Amino acid sequence: MIPPEALESATQRWGRELFHLAKAEHDQLSQLNPWVRRVLRWSLSDIEAPEVRLPPALRLGIALTHPQALTARAVTHVTHWMVTQIAHQFICGTSLDEAFASIQRLETQGMGFTLDLVGETTISEREADRYREAYLTVLEGLIRLCQSHPTLLPWYGTSPRVNLSIKLSSLTSRFDAIQWDATCEAVLARLLPIVELAKTHEAFINIDMEQYQTRALTIEVLQRLLHHPSVAGYPHVGIAIQAYLRDSEAELRDLLTWLATHDQPLTVRLVKGAYWDAEVVQARQRHWPVPVFLQKAETDSNFERLTELLLTNHHLVRTAIASHNIRSLAHALAVVEVLQVPPSRLEFQLLYGMADAIKQALSKLHQPVRVYAPYGELIPGMAYLIRRLLENTSNDSFLKHDFLHEASEEELLRVPK
Ligand SMILES: Cc1cc2nc3c(=O)[nH]c(=O)nc-3n(C[C@H](O)[C@H](O)[C@H](O)COP(=O)(O)OP(=O)(O)OC[C@H]3O[C@@H](n4cnc5c(N)ncnc54)[C@H](O)[C@@H]3O)c2cc1C
Repeated sequence: MIPPEALESATQRWGRELFHLAKAEHDQLSQLNPWVRRVLRWSLSDIEAPEVRLPPALRLGIALTHPQALTARAVTHVTHWMVTQIAHQFICGTSLDEAFASIQRLETQGMGFTLDLVGETTISEREADRYREAYLTVLEGLIRLCQSHPTLLPWYGTSPRVNLSIKLSSLTSRFDAIQWDATCEAVLARLLPIVELAKTHEAFINIDMEQYQTRALTIEVLQRLLHHPSVAGYPHVGIAIQAYLRDSEAELRDLLTWLATHDQPLTVRLVKGAYWDAEVVQARQRHWPVPVFLQKAETDSNFERLTELLLTNHHLVRTAIASHNIRSLAHALAVVEVLQVPPSRLEFQLLYGMADAIKQALSKLHQPVRVYAPYGELIPGMAYLIRRLLENTSNDSFLKHDFLHEASEEELLRVPK
């Protein structure tokens, strides 16, 4: 049992320190590029409000999208321009070369990476094969890049430099629990060669978590993967757990028991969950119980509970705390301090293009920071971009409160209740 008062006082201290370091260099924690900031500010505000000074090109674009002034080509052009600006903010490159250049820039700033190939929900088996090939190509490229450009971030000894994030829904056209065994086998057949290549070169493979209806399948594939003779015991595999799910604590406890029983190392990336709107809408449409918490504070509070559960079990799992919320990050730092968790058992992960000031603040505190860097074309990346936009404009978003100066540091650091 972690003493609550000592924990809260350490959380407040780390929180103030993070705010101080982050704001020392940047007024805005979200660190969006000016165009994206304007588009977001516009989407968050009344379009006529005098303080929203949109650039003339954008105002023209918006005027053109008015039904009476509609000209298809102009609208397409402006929309494409706006989406490209947003993509540049959140996607680290459209080609592998661009992605590699971004990764090297991150490392120069003292941060690691996990590369994600954008695209999900594959619709044919040929497409799933193409994704497998693409993951193998990316991994080979990353291995070559790292061999030819040695870099020594101090914490690479505890977690491999090459790190790839994978969405299992891209590895089969039917990522569907109804055909449980067939689906697991189809995914595993494509996943195994990727993990085996990673193992040969000591690279890390993380399995991202997607919608609730695929969670049980995702965990099953993970367990079958870790059971496979060519992978069993390999320490550099990870999975994301979503704290917005009401049953996530039970799921995590089961996973910890399984790891202990099988003597299998694992990294858990703790996230809040990126599909909140979709989960609520889908469950309501189908008259099913909503699997996610409905109050943001419940998710934040559960994130803290799961942080404590993971870090208490640091002998079983390595933890990656993935958040841009200073309260959530400060709480993790406080748990590490109070429990005296060895530094090698934790890293922080943040998304490319978001909260750069917070990444720098964590780095200044000598914390390992890894940036989740998606790369790929605009169209396959659209679902990812929409999730980032929803997140940045959601009324409950930590970064939005800071972005619009809606809440004081004190309020943002309060215990989530
Ligand atoms: C490195 C990295 C990897 C990630 N990988 C994944 C992944 O594999 N799978 C995945 O699903 N997500 C993933 N995410 C996204 C993550 O789940 C969050 O969407 C995102 O980080 C925002 O959370 P926050 O703590 O940064 O911000 P905050 O503003 O503190 O939290 C926002 C989050 O709170 C939750 N929320 C919002 N409104 C409500 C409400 N009314 N009631 C209850 N909860 C609410 C949602 O989860 C929302 O995303 C990843 C994030 C990072 C940084």
